[in-house]
Amino acid sequence: MLLTTSLQKVKGVGPKTAEQLAAANLHTVGDLIDFLPRKHEDFSEVVNIADIHPGKMTIRARCEKIATRPVRRGLRITTATLVDDTGKLQAVWFNQPYRTTQLAKADEEFFFSGEFEFNYNKYQLSNPSVEKASEMPVNTDRLLPVYRAIKGLKSQLVRKILVEIKPLMTMLPETLPASVVKTEKLLPRSDAVLGMHFPKTPDDVTAAKERLAFEELFQLLLASQLNKLDNAKLEGWHIPFDQKIVADFVAQLPFDLTGAQRRAAWEIIQDFEKKTPMNRLLQGDVGAGKTVVAGLAARQAAASGFQTALMAPTEILASQHAETLSKLLQPFGVNVGLLTGSVKGVARKTLYEQIASGSVAVVVGTHALIQETVKFHRLGFVVIDEQHRFGVKQRQELLTKSEYMPHLLAMTATPIPRSLALTVYGELDVSILNELPKGRKPIETKIWSPNSQAQLYAKIDAEIANGRQGYVICSLIDDNPDNEIKSVEAEYKKLQNSIFKHRKIGLLHGKMKSDEKDDVMSRFASGELDILVSTTVVEVGVDVPNATVMIIENADRFGLSQLHQLRGRVGRSSHQSYCYLVMSDSSKPSQRLKEIERSNDGFYLAEVDLKLRGPGEIYGRSQHGALNLQIATLSDTKLIARAQKQAKAFAVNGADLVQYNQLAEQVGKYQRLTTLN
Ligand code: ADP
Ligand code: MG
Repeated sequence: MLLTTSLQKVKGVGPKTAEQLAAANLHTVGDLIDFLPRKHEDFSEVVNIADIHPGKMTIRARCEKIATRPVRRGLRITTATLVDDTGKLQAVWFNQPYRTTQLAKADEEFFFSGEFEFNYNKYQLSNPSVEKASEMPVNTDRLLPVYRAIKGLKSQLVRKILVEIKPLMTMLPETLPASVVKTEKLLPRSDAVLGMHFPKTPDDVTAAKERLAFEELFQLLLASQLNKLDNAKLEGWHIPFDQKIVADFVAQLPFDLTGAQRRAAWEIIQDFEKKTPMNRLLQGDVGAGKTVVAGLAARQAAASGFQTALMAPTEILASQHAETLSKLLQPFGVNVGLLTGSVKGVARKTLYEQIASGSVAVVVGTHALIQETVKFHRLGFVVIDEQHRFGVKQRQELLTKSEYMPHLLAMTATPIPRSLALTVYGELDVSILNELPKGRKPIETKIWSPNSQAQLYAKIDAEIANGRQGYVICSLIDDNPDNEIKSVEAEYKKLQNSIFKHRKIGLLHGKMKSDEKDDVMSRFASGELDILVSTTVVEVGVDVPNATVMIIENADRFGLSQLHQLRGRVGRSSHQSYCYLVMSDSSKPSQRLKEIERSNDGFYLAEVDLKLRGPGEIYGRSQHGALNLQIATLSDTKLIARAQKQAKAFAVNGADLVQYNQLAEQVGKYQRLTTLN
């Protein structure tokens, strides 16, 4: 048997079982070895019935009598008499009639694990879980691993298969450098894996977890260390700082920059002067004013004869940025061009020429920018707005459009929790806009019951009467995007034909033609429209400061950071803004909704989101497909620090990864996934 042996060949695995395993992505012996238990149940303290007292416990007993009876509609109670050599005990289950057949064999022994408590007027064992005693390796390993459920497969069977392949677990190759294992006093990989699947004591599990979590973090941190070293070897463009250029730009702004904006801009300009290309993440909460920081840097780049490319995830956002930057830069004779899918024919050809000749110095666009036909001219500065919306490949494609590696500024309004920033983006320099422009008031957020919609509409109407504007956001009703369009169109009709007959309403969704979208957006931005009924296409970036109220329908269907992003469309001026989260029904609001109602702080909400969903869920879909930490938790800062120290040392010593096949492979994967350039 080898790690690569198909599970089908293992004793006890029939074709049907193999199929079920394959459906859970378990194909080889190695796959199953890596299928680590999700937790361990402690069956080590089996008590005699004569000795029990209230609380959680496990007994080993036979079932003497069992019966199920209906108590009332929807409730069936199963009661059993359990016996061991020392006494008898009542057990009770609610709505689990199958226990009657499961426990029918009077001579079979089972483990019952549950809470012994006062219930229905007597002490009983309530809802205990049940395992056949014969199916558990009671005498040697009493700590029972519990695996993630595999459809159709009993966990007992998984454990049995693991017993078959146990011999192989004792000879797993070491995946960490020997020196690291030694200095950190970690278990060898084999022992750790055995400790997870076949622990003898809780300490075995603890030590196994420590080793495996360390390994995961080490790989991740080593990847970012190596990325950092790679980046330091690159040669970039030198863009010298010109104080007058910057001062003139700042002087013509209609507002004072915040302290945080100044600091971020200064950090960028200093990076411009270095030999190695900038690799910087600009994190700022929604509305913190990232665009103007990028604009200032683009001004400096243009003054030294360098082109800037700014890529945004949607057409709406790209055209809005082009307009904003044009206003900021045109006065200095810096031309801004907009390249999206909807620029066609002659206009597109002309734009290509202007970009290639450098007469357009700042090119704003969607992923149209990375098309092969686009030729840049001394592309020295690349800005990626809402960077988490892009894949690694798209970012890289844009960067390779320059003869040298351009300076990179990735902007994101979805703050990355510290622990994640350290592990996943450890290679990056980070600037943080932790200060909102002066005079902003926190947005008032309220969870709203669908039954009192009328009051909400009255609130919007009052805002409009005051000269303000509002958004009504409609969600996916299910996963079908066509239904999302239906729901937004229906809402639009309803509001326009009755409730807001006297107001001007616009409709916006992703399937509209881009000139229609542009038209609606600019009518909303200019104040001609009072209300914009929209899907989440406005989620990212859209900036209409006069809009002060937002209704989010079916708010419970959105994720936490998505809600925060959406809400960020209001609260962009000194006027008080409001956000109403309308529930789909009158059930209890989720933790998610309560958190968003409670806090306006994107950094706090990102931490909460990370806790509620885990990193894989948050950062998984978009770019970190393989970032699935099985054992490590990002809240384990002590272990992160230890792994960080070792990864740094290993990288600096010119680590020779060649000797460590498996490590090299995993690290390489992480390097590709987490790098920004
Ligand atoms: P985000 O960080 O969400 O991308 P934007 O760059 O869109 O934010 O800026 C939000 C709004 O705040 C814009 O209307 C912008 O003009 C304005 N703004 C930016 N900086 C300041 C400032 N220092 N003082 C006042 N308003 C500002
Ligand atoms: Mg923005």
